[in-house]
Amino acid sequence: MDFLGDWLYLIIGIAVVGVLAVAGLLAGGRSRSKPPSGGTDVIAPPREGEAPVEAPPEVATEEPSAPVEVEPAAPTLEKPEGTASRLVRLRQRLSRSQSGLGKGLLALLSRDRLDEDTWEDIEDTLLTADIGVAPTQELVERLRTRMRVEGNDAGTPRDVLREELVNLVDPTMDRRLAITGADGQPGVVLVVGVNGAGKTTTVGKISRILVADDRSVLLGAADTFRAAAVEQLATWGERVGVPVVRGPEGSDPASVAFEAVKRGVEENYDVVLVDTAGRLQNKAGLMDELGKVKRVIEKQAPVTEVLLVLDATTGQNGMIQARVFSEIVDVSGIVLTKLDGSAKGGIVVAVQRELGVPVKLVGLGEGADDLAPFDPEAFVDALLG
Ligand code: GDP
Repeated sequence: MDFLGDWLYLIIGIAVVGVLAVAGLLAGGRSRSKPPSGGTDVIAPPREGEAPVEAPPEVATEEPSAPVEVEPAAPTLEKPEGTASRLVRLRQRLSRSQSGLGKGLLALLSRDRLDEDTWEDIEDTLLTADIGVAPTQELVERLRTRMRVEGNDAGTPRDVLREELVNLVDPTMDRRLAITGADGQPGVVLVVGVNGAGKTTTVGKISRILVADDRSVLLGAADTFRAAAVEQLATWGERVGVPVVRGPEGSDPASVAFEAVKRGVEENYDVVLVDTAGRLQNKAGLMDELGKVKRVIEKQAPVTEVLLVLDATTGQNGMIQARVFSEIVDVSGIVLTKLDGSAKGGIVVAVQRELGVPVKLVGLGEGADDLAPFDPEAFVDALLG
């Protein structure tokens, strides 16, 4: 019996040691995966010579598990560039593309003798920069008079030219975006222009400016004819956490615009930006379409701003587009894109004169934050280098 009893103790002893050893191993395993205090959850790499420990397969238990809600991984949001650094950076870029015009004019005005040939050269330089015939003649007239009457009292040629160019660009126009709705409603911005002018890009860039300014923004992808435009807008939105209301390809642009503004009102967004299609082949069709978009939006909330996007590199073509769109909708502000790729900044003056509305924003590159508020004095300084 004693012998049997000894064996029994021995077996129990081995079993206890075994259980302790397994418990120890488990505890060791757990402490390995414990995150370092205050750090992220990382599993320590195996020590040298140690085989990596594979996680045991999950064992199904009998108990019914509660439904697991998987939080979708939040996409990493970009932080749009703030206004101050954007302005410094973009002024330099404007200066690079436009200073040829200013330098050319200054060189001519600084000649010892301002004869007829020189004035003609000045006129040609202004016309080449797309300023337009009437504004060119006006500017030359004013410069001639001032140089003749005031002579040296007018200041340096640079001072005179700066003053007259600023006057021409008109610093008195109100260039703020109308993005505040009445009675707590969202501001509604309709963005129009021909395809390729940079509409969708501009909507994306404006949404970043507004996000940087802590405003809540909703986008409406009412350019439903081009799936690529809708996708492009969705990507712009995702990058800064701005939702995009979209419909199936080919759906009615007005219904998408309506839904976007409806949601903007219901969910108290600060601003709703609506991208539209810009097929110019058929003016009557475009007129119907944009008219309808505006009408249905205004069943929800008034449109506070209609921005016409124009490509600065298209010269006279841009002016024709400006005329057509201004007949269709009440344009309240102009966005001139691609000024980085054109030395013809004079179009700012021409298009403002033509439509009687201010250039409010200028596009200066393909980068996400390459859009700047238009400031006449900074623009003229960039021209003059
Ligand atoms: P939409 O058809 O009017 O919506 O035009 P998109 O927004 O698709 O733009 C057409 C092209 O112009 C794209 O390749 C844009 O990157 C480019 N673009 C837009 N704005 C600017 C700008 O200010 N500068 C430059 N260099 N390219 C721009």
